[in-house]
Amino acid sequence: MNLWDEIASLFAGRGSGVYFGENVSMTEHALQAAHFAREAAAPTPLIIAALLHDVGHLVVPVPDDLADWTHDARHEQIGGAWLGRRFGPEISEPVRLHVPAKRYLCAVDPGYFAALSPASIHTLKLQGGPMSDAEVAEFEARPYHAAAVKLRRWDDLGKVQGLRTPALEHYRAWIEEMAAAHQSLRPRRQAATPSTPNAPTTTG
Ligand code: FE
Repeated sequence: MNLWDEIASLFAGRGSGVYFGENVSMTEHALQAAHFAREAAAPTPLIIAALLHDVGHLVVPVPDDLADWTHDARHEQIGGAWLGRRFGPEISEPVRLHVPAKRYLCAVDPGYFAALSPASIHTLKLQGGPMSDAEVAEFEARPYHAAAVKLRRWDDLGKVQGLRTPALEHYRAWIEEMAAAHQSLRPRRQAATPSTPNAPTTTG
């Protein structure tokens, strides 16, 4: 299956499920995050990162009911790894850091925590709560941390019931373009490594 078909089938399969504890579906949430990134004139890779930031939830399902969520699903790690096999770090790393970015914002922006939805407060506890001062310094030293903070804010905005946005197909050319650019940049050695037959490619 090519990358576009893989992404389209992930959204078609689980995307209609409700976005945890909110009034939008997983697909609506993804399209809204990308829409807000576009409105902010974000660079294209960051728009695609916003669109695919919760792909970890699509490849490894977690309970629909937030009350059944008793541990952190680490969807940002699963999603970051999944994206890292298909795109460059400018897409995978903001996604990998978008949960730490929430813990970061809770530590440095007093208004941020106050505005979190009840569902987001529930998951914050499972994710480790606000960062300590040492964790804040460590986070700020990481490449892509600023992009992750921007992504996080679009993620938080993407919960508007009934908001009209461009469809998934709208992003197809950008997705294909960036995946192709990433493939062409990969070292020959890596590209020439034979893949394991029947290795799973859709789980992180
Ligand atoms: Fe999200």
